Amino acid sequence: AKAALDKAEHAQKDVNAYITLDRQGALKRAAEIDAAGIDADNIFSGIPLAVKDNIVTKGLRTTAASHILDNFVPIYDAAVMEKLNKLGLVVIGKTNMDEFAMGGSTETSFFGKTANAWDHTKVPGGSSGGSAAAVASGLIPFALGSDTGGSIRQPAAFNGIVGLKPTYGRVSRWGLIAFGSSLDQIGPLTRTVKDNARVLSVIAGKDPRDTTSEDSPVPDFLANIEGGVKGLRVGVPKEYFAKGIDDDVKATIKKAIAKFEELGAVVDEVSLPHSRYGIAAYYILASSEASSNLQRFDGIRYGYSARQEGQTLEDLYVKTRSEGFGPEVKRRIMLGTFALSAGFYDAYFKKAAQVRTLIVSDFTKVFQDHDLILGPTTTSTAFDLGSEDDDPVKMYMNDLLTIPVNLAGLPGMSINAGFANHLPVGLQIIGRPFDESTIYRAAYAFE
Ligand code: GLN
Repeated sequence: AKAALDKAEHAQKDVNAYITLDRQGALKRAAEIDAAGIDADNIFSGIPLAVKDNIVTKGLRTTAASHILDNFVPIYDAAVMEKLNKLGLVVIGKTNMDEFAMGGSTETSFFGKTANAWDHTKVPGGSSGGSAAAVASGLIPFALGSDTGGSIRQPAAFNGIVGLKPTYGRVSRWGLIAFGSSLDQIGPLTRTVKDNARVLSVIAGKDPRDTTSEDSPVPDFLANIEGGVKGLRVGVPKEYFAKGIDDDVKATIKKAIAKFEELGAVVDEVSLPHSRYGIAAYYILASSEASSNLQRFDGIRYGYSARQEGQTLEDLYVKTRSEGFGPEVKRRIMLGTFALSAGFYDAYFKKAAQVRTLIVSDFTKVFQDHDLILGPTTTSTAFDLGSEDDDPVKMYMNDLLTIPVNLAGLPGMSINAGFANHLPVGLQIIGRPFDESTIYRAAYAFE
């Protein structure tokens, strides 16, 4: 824990992976674990951990990278934190992210930008950019992130590490600051596939406090991880190699898929015809859910408050939210409120929900005779810091290949497929619902 803190503090100036580092708390906790004695059967005992700052940690400031929560110290632990703490992991800090997880570059944070681990002039991706940069920079063995439209897989791809978005319902969202509740999942960012499986084994499972968490049994994700890919049926969607995806990304991914064939997988081309509508549907649905979820930040119950003598309640709400939220969050709240409003609901929210159903059925069809879907995670490698942060639509287009997976609730992983122009390229592996095991098996065979 001490080494991880030293490294993290040293790297803050260049990487800025963390919003909060908890030297005092972490060293105290580590000392307690030392005093209790090493449990030889528990590989997690005393291992340092970094946590995305939208996952609440008891007694440790949790900001969601927003001014509106910059003084918020939770009084409880998220469900995933309870599980990890019980095993003796030591949280050393909270990682930087896009404000309320809205973004794809960690540039909307109230706490400054984070740098890509491989090139400090590039974005680390987002919204879990701090977690990905910390792991890829060797600052921490693993970190937690959250993924609503790609926020674990895209930064994992941009930093050349392993990131998994579990099946919707696999991991409890209790204590995850909600963005789009029907899409959000917490998942691990790690350097190796096996580490990723180890962490998922701990955080997965039914939690009565999250009614959308599933009662599906949690397998031992390591049990069959060395089983290889011989005979696995792999579909490669033609839409994932269409216009808009960089040639060097396509070339790197094609090479990776050829390696799967060499390893014995049976690969053929498939189609996900509605995936091109994913971005449009997602930005309606996710923003609608966000506009509702973010109503609770009102200057009364949590965090920042613009309270003033002689103010009306309405004034308090407006001033707090005007000053507390950044521009991207405001944009989403306005978009979502509009899409849900009477007179526009049928044209936008309802349409988007219908498109979502079509995207689900595209995947269901492919998974009738395929075990996995492979393709790129992102349309490009990491872009320059500051190059897209004033063009929201351009930023949204980056999520083309990750969003359909969230809309369908499927598990999806990004692992490093190789490099293009010295920057990592992510291979995306998509599985059937609750079949993370097959994803891990394929990823391990490739790694
Ligand atoms: N980039 C997407 C967005 O801005 C996804 C974010 C996420 O997965 N949290 O909404």
